[in-house]
Amino acid sequence: SKEDVQAFFKKNAFVLFTVAAVVLGVILGFSLRPYKMSYREVKYFSFPGEVLMRMLQMLVLPLLVSSLITGMAALDSKASGKMGMRAVIYYMTTTIIAVFIGILIVLIIHPGKGSKAEFGKQQTIEQISPADAFLDLIRNMFPPNLVQACTQQFKTKYGKRTVHLTVTINDTFFNSTNNTQEVMEITREEMIPIPGQVNGLNALGLVVFSMCFGLIIGNMKEQGQLLREFFDGLNEAIMQLVAIIMWYAPIGILFLIAGKIVEMDDLTQMGGQLGMYTITVIIGLMIHAVLILPMLYFVITRQNPFVFIAGLLQALVTALGTSSSSATLPVTFKCLEENNKIDKRITRFVLPVGATINMDGTALYEALAAIFIAQVNNMEMNFGQIITISITATAASIGAAGIPQAGLVTMVIVLTSVGLPTDDITLIIAVDWFLDRLRTTTNVLGDSIGAGIIEFLSRHELRSKDVEMGNAVLEE
Ligand code: ASP
Repeated sequence: SKEDVQAFFKKNAFVLFTVAAVVLGVILGFSLRPYKMSYREVKYFSFPGEVLMRMLQMLVLPLLVSSLITGMAALDSKASGKMGMRAVIYYMTTTIIAVFIGILIVLIIHPGKGSKAEFGKQQTIEQISPADAFLDLIRNMFPPNLVQACTQQFKTKYGKRTVHLTVTINDTFFNSTNNTQEVMEITREEMIPIPGQVNGLNALGLVVFSMCFGLIIGNMKEQGQLLREFFDGLNEAIMQLVAIIMWYAPIGILFLIAGKIVEMDDLTQMGGQLGMYTITVIIGLMIHAVLILPMLYFVITRQNPFVFIAGLLQALVTALGTSSSSATLPVTFKCLEENNKIDKRITRFVLPVGATINMDGTALYEALAAIFIAQVNNMEMNFGQIITISITATAASIGAAGIPQAGLVTMVIVLTSVGLPTDDITLIIAVDWFLDRLRTTTNVLGDSIGAGIIEFLSRHELRSKDVEMGNAVLEE
């Protein structure tokens, strides 16, 4: 009846707008392509999208910190230990499955057949050894300066640096006007920070700090009360901001997508290897997102995974539009808490961590891309090398920040670990913007399904905590 239709529209207005935004964005983008806009024109055109990106990113820092602190403070150390264990097991298992699928698919389809085609421009990419990258991962966990952690990740390289020392000798004793200058040149090996290589916040460091901080104030008696209330209030206020931004999201997503389509390179070079590669990645991500993750959810919770995923639609579309799992984080929270009714103690605990370290799509992609590059170079990877790729791809996905194309940067680690030419990353740059959107969507889906599964597994702890706190408890 008419009321039903109205009620349906009212309830699903956001989702309908968001989906419509994607469709319109694609149509608009393709219809404007023939006009060959200049770079400046494209930037003007996609400005509403840029604004959405900025709004979402603006919320990430306060949301990440306040949700983790309140999330940890709401659990006692035993419960959080158990949930943490479950989360880690879930993240590891799904990431390893993803890597496995990526490797399997690329070996079966073998998109790198034939001689190496030249796409893109060759440029030299900085070599980072896997060991150094690993140490940087640990360094990032413990930022020496929390304020700096809000603005950048730590990246280092080891190398020779020449320092010029200028010594001015000011001869005041004889009151002479001649100053002698001596220039010394010292070349020495040092650890050189690479600032701005990955911009955006050091989420990992903030996650580690917030978790410890939350756990501690959760255990403090009256002294902790004020802090708990403060971060709780902060979190609530941020979520209300999210609710406002959500109204703007469809417009932003429309222009983000349209702008990217207007801007992208010609599709003609998609033929051959690169086209096959794109298809292989899509198939791999699809298997993981549409088959494996839903199956896992069903097997564990015995509930319909697609109903759960339907509730996440907006977060998934936002991931597609922004290609950043951290920018999507506010929307992921909203979807899980409001549509899927996931307990806040769970979302606050697992989503910030998940968005930072659990990236199934990225892991799958990195393993697959590395083997593709080997294929293009006619290099056979032996079993040991494939194992190395799976380990480094997992590490690289943990180390990648939830920002656009971060996975492309951390690929260097995977390639160097098995002696593949890092410059060949340029072969896949042309399609990375697109594949990045798909792997980001997979990443967000992985985090969200994880929240659902961990809530289910933790229902007893949550319940007994409710009883202890005298909260309303639903009978099972
Ligand atoms: N853009 C991805 C994300 O935010 C990371 C990647 O580049 O793989 O999840």
